[in-house]
Amino acid sequence: MGVLECFKYIRDDFPLLRSKRVIYFDNAATSLKPEQVINAVRKYYEDLSSNVHRGVHTLSMEASRLYEEAHEELRKFINARYLEEVIFTSGTTQSLNLIAYMLGLGLNERDNVVISIMEHHSNLLPWVMLSKLRGFKLKVVDIKDDYTLDYEKLSELIDRNTRVVALTHMSNVLGTIVDIRRVSKIVRENDAFLVVDGAQSVPHIPISVNDLGIDFLAFSGHKMLGPTGIGVMYIRKEVQESLKPPFVGGGIVESVKYVNGEFIVKFLNPPWRFEPGTPNISGAIGLAEAVKYLKKLGMENVAEHEKELVRYTINKIVNDEVLAERLKIYGPRRLESRGGIISFNVADLNPHTVATFLDTYNIALRSGLHCAHPLHERIGASLGTVRASFYIYNTTEEVDIMIEALRELIAKLAGS
Ligand code: PMP
Repeated sequence: MGVLECFKYIRDDFPLLRSKRVIYFDNAATSLKPEQVINAVRKYYEDLSSNVHRGVHTLSMEASRLYEEAHEELRKFINARYLEEVIFTSGTTQSLNLIAYMLGLGLNERDNVVISIMEHHSNLLPWVMLSKLRGFKLKVVDIKDDYTLDYEKLSELIDRNTRVVALTHMSNVLGTIVDIRRVSKIVRENDAFLVVDGAQSVPHIPISVNDLGIDFLAFSGHKMLGPTGIGVMYIRKEVQESLKPPFVGGGIVESVKYVNGEFIVKFLNPPWRFEPGTPNISGAIGLAEAVKYLKKLGMENVAEHEKELVRYTINKIVNDEVLAERLKIYGPRRLESRGGIISFNVADLNPHTVATFLDTYNIALRSGLHCAHPLHERIGASLGTVRASFYIYNTTEEVDIMIEALRELIAKLAGS
């Protein structure tokens, strides 16, 4: 039995797929949640509901244990070396902002930061704001005609004044996968930091921060079967030593003393140093459960399953005379360079019109600019694109229904 077949059985784990007739192709926005995750969150509130690291009573100790175990589960999932390196945040956006402020506030006019034209606003706007504040130059590497990153240009742009290279691992519009191993080699040679936006990669392909040479990694739980409001900021241990926590408050110090009119603060060791205030405890526990679920399936299989769906969808489109002529796909054709996201436009229709039409077939997908305005200008789709994004529970039968609906839409256009 192939990956596509054997994944069919997991559909029963997802209450939403049991209760609603929906073809859910909006996984790049957020994923559905299996009952294992929902139950883990419910169990925390029903059985513990206590704060962490703030009490010696049994419930608080048990909540603390589960919260710490969640860090360990995530550490293993991204193959980080130390638990200290895994910091919980509210999600990718918060992680990327914190990273940008920790690194960017120390830069000046002589420095530069390199990003790409593919960046989601979460990995673009923090650097734009900081470059205006601190006066450093923001350099932007382009994509090539085949929608892959221009690695030669990247090598040219990085120089000895480059302090940070901040790139998406997988474009949320094009599905393009960036070769982080190749990038990290260039970054290391130039003594800069490598920041990776893993929002679209960590849920879908195996990742090892250690093997890839990543200094900072950001990702969100809600795109990988976990709850909303929880995510990760990975910071390599050696880098942490040079960083001050960008936010401070309760739960992050060993001691604060007021001596001779001065406050002397001794911070706890990471990761707690970087997690001020009451954290999202239920979210962390739910995310750990999501990660266990994905590990059981095997991330290699998850990636292969999505590749199969993309291969199937693209073949269907290019082998259909009508669709091939009226439907434009934005993204690499070579499967090795892409993940499970297919963005397209139908003739000159507004993407929202297409998505609204597909909704009448119970197909949920996203239309618009996907928080990547400069990229849409760059690819000549200033009104946006329609985006189908796959995950573990999607099937080829669902793709067939979408293809049929698109055919019908085009037939309607021809008739009008
Ligand atoms: N980066 C990328 C590539 C994304 O796709 C997203 C979510 N669309 C984000 C960052 C932001 O993630 P979140 O909204 O979970 O913070």
